[in-house]
Amino acid sequence: MLVTLKEILADAEEYKYGVGLFNHLDLEMANGIIEAAEEEGSPVILGVAEVHLSTIPFEYAAAIMRKSAEQAKVPVCLHFDHGTDFAKIVKAMQSGFSSVMYDGSALPYEENIANTREISKVAHALGISVEAELGHVGGGEGGADDGHEAMYTKVEQVNDFIKRADIDALAVAIGTAHGEYKFTPKLDLERLAQIYEVSDKPLVLHGGSGLSDDDFRNTVKNGIRKVNICTELCNAAYNSFAASKANGLNFEKAVIEARQAVKNSVIRYMRVFGSSGRYKYTPYNPNKPYVSDEDLHYIF
Ligand SMILES: [Zn+2]
Repeated sequence: MLVTLKEILADAEEYKYGVGLFNHLDLEMANGIIEAAEEEGSPVILGVAEVHLSTIPFEYAAAIMRKSAEQAKVPVCLHFDHGTDFAKIVKAMQSGFSSVMYDGSALPYEENIANTREISKVAHALGISVEAELGHVGGGEGGADDGHEAMYTKVEQVNDFIKRADIDALAVAIGTAHGEYKFTPKLDLERLAQIYEVSDKPLVLHGGSGLSDDDFRNTVKNGIRKVNICTELCNAAYNSFAASKANGLNFEKAVIEARQAVKNSVIRYMRVFGSSGRYKYTPYNPNKPYVSDEDLHYIF
């Protein structure tokens, strides 16, 4: 079933687990992600990043993804990741995304608030969720550079930002970076705990690819409810194609293998984030989207 980011993260906050946002660049990746969610009985956020619109344009992405989200046996949020362009974000809303991120994190504080607020006004009128970023996660989607401490989220700005930008989820900068890590990331968990303490909206971790399982468990324990994964899934698909070629598989078989590789990777993340099993033991019922407490299957 298609849900908004606000709905999917409300459940994650209530039961203290993390939901993966998995970005996809083509239909096979998307299928692998949805299949993983259904098999694991896990909620999932299916993402398309603005920088990847060259491989997966709106009309293509939204029409097919919305259909598969609606038909899925688990809650699926269709999310537009790292929007920077007002027209493109509005186009995403118009195309059927149930959630959008506006990324004004490279802008001055007041400008970030003003721009985010404009997006929130349009999105909320349409029942669509909004995520925004305070502080700045380095690297840029698909890029790679080090995070800088000066760009970390400032605890004292969190409340003001959430209130004035009128958002549903907050992406924080606590030491992660996008793309491949050139160094072992050192996460500022103390800062995260302080942000969680003052924030009344769910928190989002970007730059998830390359973090250790312990990093994920610790960030979820300290308040992260959405974890963004992109690079690792691209690597899984790409490496799978290379292996298939080396093993002499034809293209059709290689495509199936790549989808399976993405699926396996997603399943592993879902188990680490603790979202696996949320919907496993209750048959799908659109009138009762969330399972009862006794159905819960905790990973940690
Ligand atoms: Zn990101």
